[in-house]
Amino acid sequence: MEISDDRILKELSIDGVSGSLISLADLIRKQKVGDFVYFRGLVEISNICSKNCYYCGLRKGNTKLKRYALSEDEAVVIGVFIYRSGISSIALQSGEVKSDRWVEKLVNIVRRIKEETKKIDEENGKEPKGAGITISFGELEKEHYEELFRAGAHRYLLRIETSDRELYEKLHPVDENHSFDTRLKCLEWLKEIGYQVGTGVMIGVPGQTIKHLLSDLRFFRSFDIDMIGMGPYIEHRDTPLFVWHRKEIEKRSFYRKAYELSIKMIAFARIMLEDVNIVASTALQSIPGCENSLETGIIAGANVVMPVFTPSDFKKAYSIYENKNNLTVSQMAERIEKAGYIPVFDKWGDPIHYFERI
Ligand code: SAM
Ligand code: SF4
Repeated sequence: MEISDDRILKELSIDGVSGSLISLADLIRKQKVGDFVYFRGLVEISNICSKNCYYCGLRKGNTKLKRYALSEDEAVVIGVFIYRSGISSIALQSGEVKSDRWVEKLVNIVRRIKEETKKIDEENGKEPKGAGITISFGELEKEHYEELFRAGAHRYLLRIETSDRELYEKLHPVDENHSFDTRLKCLEWLKEIGYQVGTGVMIGVPGQTIKHLLSDLRFFRSFDIDMIGMGPYIEHRDTPLFVWHRKEIEKRSFYRKAYELSIKMIAFARIMLEDVNIVASTALQSIPGCENSLETGIIAGANVVMPVFTPSDFKKAYSIYENKNNLTVSQMAERIEKAGYIPVFDKWGDPIHYFERI
């Protein structure tokens, strides 16, 4: 639905979240994608990263972090476990490593999960479709994306982080390894290859204004994106961004504002993009001092959740930000039902928008 820049800026500038915005988003959600909330079992394959994004605890420069990488077999076993437990969509995520050897391992993981889950379908007398596989491994070469697609991944999440080049360059070192143009080029490649493409931004990050957020919404529309994964920025003390902006981040109002903006951004994304998938992110569920953020995100228009299946030995080490709130599948399902929506485990839950745009 069309909505004016003035209306968006006005809503983003006020304190609180207006009931009429949420009601409109919920109405559009019910008309376009229904009451369903799709589950993706998330596996965080490795916290090793070659980048130095200023906000993220996995950044290469964070020498305090103990690094891990699941073996190929471990990742496949977890993927199969998720599928056998009844969740038919799997999401694989990791820090960014742009090497042929690393990508070969990721390709093997994707291929083997696909093969094994197809076999499970056959055992159960079903059409051998296997798991729906979403991946998020950062910026890779085009050939890498193609290999992963051929191996069976069909959705890719790559957040633009911010659609504003200047802000992007404040949040990342300005060098070949952190280029806004490369990020855009990767999103183009993913679309060309045929992935269902997801992007998103961090909300409430120091230096961001409501005009940036408006431009993010316009970017999602102009790029004709299929899926959106956005969430509040949350501090990590061993990162430059926290050190530089500590006073601002430690103000009581900081997270309240990030939370309200996150909810409004979900609502506007639902109103403007209608039939895309929108994630109620783990960051939204972890925002300090906001207990019902999962439910509020769902009511504002989110229709996907990603419970974490990373083994507990490694979960803590995947510390993008502090105090992650990893709710279990049953906790999420219970809360979604209580809020009046329908948790869905056994369907891929592809974004309707993708089939409209191809
Ligand atoms: N390395 C891949 C990438 O950057 O696309 C995928 C993994 S990365 C950890 C996933 C997302 O975490 C990023 O896109 C970023 O938006 C988010 N993230 C990183 N640091 C964060 C923070 N401090 N608060 C909230 N989200 C953060
Ligand atoms: Fe690495 Fe992604 Fe974190 Fe950037 S956001 S440091 S690429 S894991």
